[in-house]
Amino acid sequence: MTIQSVNPVTGKVIKSYKEHSWEQIDKKIATTQTAWLKWQNSSFAERASLLKKTSALLIQRKEKLAALMAIEMGKPIKDGIAEIEKCASVCDYYADNGETFLKDELIKTEAVKSYVSFRPLGIVLAIMPWNFPYWQLFRFLAPALMAGNCGVLKHASNVSGCALSIEQIIKDAGFPANVFQVLLINSRVVKQVIAHRHIKAVTLTGSTEAGMQVAQQAAQQLKKSVLELGGSDPYLILADADLELAADVCAQSRLINNGQSCIAAKRFIVVKKVEKEFVRLFKNKMAARITGDPFDADTNLGPMSRLDLRDDLHERVKENIKAGAKCILGGQIPDFKGRHAYYTPTILTGIKKGMPAYEEEIFGPVALVISAKDTDDAVKIANDTPFGLGAAVFTKDGSLGEQVAKTHLNAGSCFVNSLVKSDPRLPFGGINQSGYGRELGLFGIREFVNIKTVYIK
Ligand code: NDP
Repeated sequence: MTIQSVNPVTGKVIKSYKEHSWEQIDKKIATTQTAWLKWQNSSFAERASLLKKTSALLIQRKEKLAALMAIEMGKPIKDGIAEIEKCASVCDYYADNGETFLKDELIKTEAVKSYVSFRPLGIVLAIMPWNFPYWQLFRFLAPALMAGNCGVLKHASNVSGCALSIEQIIKDAGFPANVFQVLLINSRVVKQVIAHRHIKAVTLTGSTEAGMQVAQQAAQQLKKSVLELGGSDPYLILADADLELAADVCAQSRLINNGQSCIAAKRFIVVKKVEKEFVRLFKNKMAARITGDPFDADTNLGPMSRLDLRDDLHERVKENIKAGAKCILGGQIPDFKGRHAYYTPTILTGIKKGMPAYEEEIFGPVALVISAKDTDDAVKIANDTPFGLGAAVFTKDGSLGEQVAKTHLNAGSCFVNSLVKSDPRLPFGGINQSGYGRELGLFGIREFVNIKTVYIK
């Protein structure tokens, strides 16, 4: 069986990779386990120095790695370079802070000495998606290695080239052999990998469906899981919002990575009083994007990552129009040459409860506008979702914005007058069907550790 990378600009197969057999998988996990037995006792200084080298290599290779993303999943070159720079920053961040985050914590008891020590768990299986093929992996891998864990990666089937380039970077940075390895496998084999005796935990970023299956498989083996799943992030535009700013940020957020981001803004909940003006400004911003070849420096919107995902998105747009939504921009497959995966930026207004888009995650450049009576109604609509990843609120009243973000919106990250984004310093993750556990910051590095009590009488 083979795994194929397909160029979404042309629909042509770039490369086929032979899937690893179970014997190969078992051997890889065994060699990573051998590596871990030593790596668990490496010093923080050694880990930090290797992460710094990884960061430097990422920066050295950023153009090449961005080109690989452009070919495998259609990301415009300049966005690809920015993604690699962010990966370097997360390596630096954990190199600089990991030791402090995992320092023993003394706790006074009647013992001579009692404390908490954060010890590594072993090998963590990472199942990662194609949308940010480097960032999604590095935000797991940098803290995992810094904590003394090892990793094996099952990457999305369309980005095997990116996966193997990461394995090479870790090797070239000078990490001990096999602390991180790629498994070229189909998702059907994942259950068996999770059950492997040397796999101690699993982290998945991807769809809610994949998350549910992996959570069940991990639970059957009593192995810890962290899940970063989908979202249908609401952006609330209140009556006193700076509409220029809101329109600009909303378009940016909806079109991040061509809308294929878990924390892209998806539902725009606008208070009726300002809806007409907001929609006018927002439409201008969405329409101003330059769609084109990812290798062209002017392009800020490439193709979607796979043809099947684009076709599925177009079907969803048609289904919602049929259900009563009004398409005021896009809604079409552009007339480019070949079997491409491009889609035009699209706005659907008049989205109401009962329409499919009200409940589901729309993963692509399609914005959904929902009308609200007032602030309370906007909050009610925002929380009327099975998801809970990110949310943003736009208002000139800072204290109202903070109150809505802190106490009213049900999501893992709530921002005021800003685009929701991940940052190495801040915890990131969701609630409800957006998953559980946290990545990044102090909380991220403590997900895959044995919080060990040491008590000396
Ligand atoms: P998936 O969730 O199917 O894929 C993400 C990763 O999980 C891939 O490595 C995939 O492998 C793997 N995977 C899928 N199913 C299973 C399973 N049952 N057991 C173990 N691993 C599995 O995403 P899709 O590529 O199909 O995209 C579909 C939708 O998922 C999107 O439209 C979006 O809604 C959501 N999504 C969310 C992302 C996020 O950042 N939260 C990222 C990507 C997608 P393989 O590629 O081999 O199937």
